[in-house]
Amino acid sequence: MKLQLLPSTFDENGCASARQHLSCFVVDDCVAIDAGSLAMATSSAQKKQIRNVILTHAHLDHIAGLPLFIDDLFAGLTEPICVFATSEVIEIIERDIFNWAIYPRFSELSNKNGAILEYHPFRTGEEFLAKHLRVKAVEVNHKVPTVGFLISDGETKFALSSDTAEMDGFWEVVNAEKNLAALLVECSFPNELEELAQISHHLTPKTLQKELKKFNQKNCPIYVINIKPMYFDEVVRQVAELNIENLDILKVGQVYEL
Ligand SMILES: [Zn+2]
Repeated sequence: MKLQLLPSTFDENGCASARQHLSCFVVDDCVAIDAGSLAMATSSAQKKQIRNVILTHAHLDHIAGLPLFIDDLFAGLTEPICVFATSEVIEIIERDIFNWAIYPRFSELSNKNGAILEYHPFRTGEEFLAKHLRVKAVEVNHKVPTVGFLISDGETKFALSSDTAEMDGFWEVVNAEKNLAALLVECSFPNELEELAQISHHLTPKTLQKELKKFNQKNCPIYVINIKPMYFDEVVRQVAELNIENLDILKVGQVYEL
């Protein structure tokens, strides 16, 4: 299974920077998990193949690229873009994004081949299929309704927390799995901003350390994601100081073979 966190910013030379402003993970070049930089950073091969987008929640850094992605592909689509999300998230993006005021309501539009945007609501705890991937959504502890995922291609399985603060249910589900190929877990703020992290329901290296004590698969590679770009260096340093084996930062743009 191929996994890539798409870039979302450029450095002063116009090259993709290591910092993550937006959240968009692409699996096997054909399924997107969150859509932060979906329109901006996908390769042309990925643009041709991605017709399934799975959302963790409706915060802007996780959906920003979705309206533009659909718009860019509008005329040429031969099948709709399928958006998988909880019904709460679908309601929010229909009400606040695809409302004609911010952007067109693509779910009411079609091109010469048919529908443009199709919603596939899922419930937490139930498995669903997105292309070749079997996905299970697990509720996490964020400021708005948010899910993490267990994602499997039949051979390999990985877990992703999305944005979250301290949680228990997610760990129970993840710990019931055997031989996870990777765990992607958020760590947005440095330790100094613990209060802000609490208010906004995010983790710091210190609270991440506590969370990882609940994770029972000691040999599983763990990758930190969703670091706020302005605190990137600090968070990376503090994560390294935890001295946890198998714990690394997920590198923006890099293709991981799980
Ligand atoms: Zn969020």
